[in-house]
Amino acid sequence: MISVERAELVAVGTELLLGEINDTNSAYLAQELAARSVDVYWSRRVGDNRARITEAILAALERADLVVLCGGLGPTDDDLTREAIADALGETPSVDPTLEAELRARFARFSRTMPAGNVKQAWLIASAEALPNPNGTAPGWFVRVEHGARTKVVVALPGPPRELVPMWLEQVVPRLRFPVATFAARTLKTFGIGESHLAERLVGLTERANPSVATYAKRDGVHVRIAAKAENADAAGALLAPVVRDVRARLDGHVWGEDADELAALVVARLRRDARTLVVIDGGTGGSLAELLGAIDDATDGTTGSGPLIGAVIAWRNEAMALLGVAYDGSAGRPPKDESEATVVAAELAERGRARCAADYGVGIAPWWSAPTETAPDRPTWGSAWAVAGPEGTEARPVSAPQSGHASRRERLAFTALVGLWTQLSKT
Ligand code: ATP
Repeated sequence: MISVERAELVAVGTELLLGEINDTNSAYLAQELAARSVDVYWSRRVGDNRARITEAILAALERADLVVLCGGLGPTDDDLTREAIADALGETPSVDPTLEAELRARFARFSRTMPAGNVKQAWLIASAEALPNPNGTAPGWFVRVEHGARTKVVVALPGPPRELVPMWLEQVVPRLRFPVATFAARTLKTFGIGESHLAERLVGLTERANPSVATYAKRDGVHVRIAAKAENADAAGALLAPVVRDVRARLDGHVWGEDADELAALVVARLRRDARTLVVIDGGTGGSLAELLGAIDDATDGTTGSGPLIGAVIAWRNEAMALLGVAYDGSAGRPPKDESEATVVAAELAERGRARCAADYGVGIAPWWSAPTETAPDRPTWGSAWAVAGPEGTEARPVSAPQSGHASRRERLAFTALVGLWTQLSKT
């Protein structure tokens, strides 16, 4: 077995470069290697060109101790992977009699004569070992390369995934020794801070390799993933813990959950724990907030009618709001036209909804809009505000003007209101 720590992938085929087929083989191999703790820093696609494939192999051998090529093992003149490996290593392919006999027998089994071109599928070079391919005609190659003081490996696998996957698992994996390493990871979920501001707070951490700290913008806020690699789980956990504490401290006040936590589920669980109820008066998210909460079975216990969520009313205009005895127009006697009016109306919706339904908490969402004026043509012309009314009082805030399309804006508004609710619930 040959030890490998760093691999590089080379997917061969002009149809990959033209975008005619998706390079799922590289995705598969990258996942396989990551799962076996092998680092992959480069993954390339190269067309059916002998010189360029050779160049890709030579470059990969400088950087990695395992080079995996896929595709280009067919019988035609533009299947050039074998030629390129031979060129890269300065060797000359010759027909291997055993492979040729097997190939001819395979064609005979299907009552066909072997085309002359297929004989190149029986080629080998001195440092290559053939990998059997029970699912196709092209054997793979497992090539040992003395490079510097190390033995490196070049592997050539056939392009069709149904041939590549079994050959990788059954022929290549058993010939390699992979690093012994265990990963430990924690994801901290944040809200109310943009990815670039968050990155500023993590300066000095995100440049580190182990534990690594990376940010991902998701629909429920920015996630920070901290991952550590070590020989065993205890060592990985010990590496991880201080960095998780550090990240938490730097993001003080913005972390609402970890790993599999879902904000709506946390809210519903807390309401249920405290035997509190909630009503939502929604004039802004088009039902997104109710959908988030309602997706949690516990929120609306359909069988006993005893869940914490009393209901959510989606109403855009006064006529619908009147059903609840609340006026959408607020004290100004007309729909809100800027964020401060919307904030007042959101608070009224939350408070009146709460009182009317005798709920412990009320959430109100109000939009505002106004025509652009000549003096301020670039001013935002619409936006929203949310409010949470509860036993501790009412908190209402505008949401910054939307940049994106409707669906994501509504979802974002719903999450923002949920964070407000969660913040108030967390104080109890
Ligand atoms: P064959 O012996 O069947 O000719 P090959 O090793 O020469 O195989 P290619 O000719 O490069 O492989 O590709 C054959 C087929 O395999 C492609 O038409 C495509 O369907 C699939 N394939 C090739 N490369 C990839 C890839 N990187 N990801 C997914 N599928 C691929």
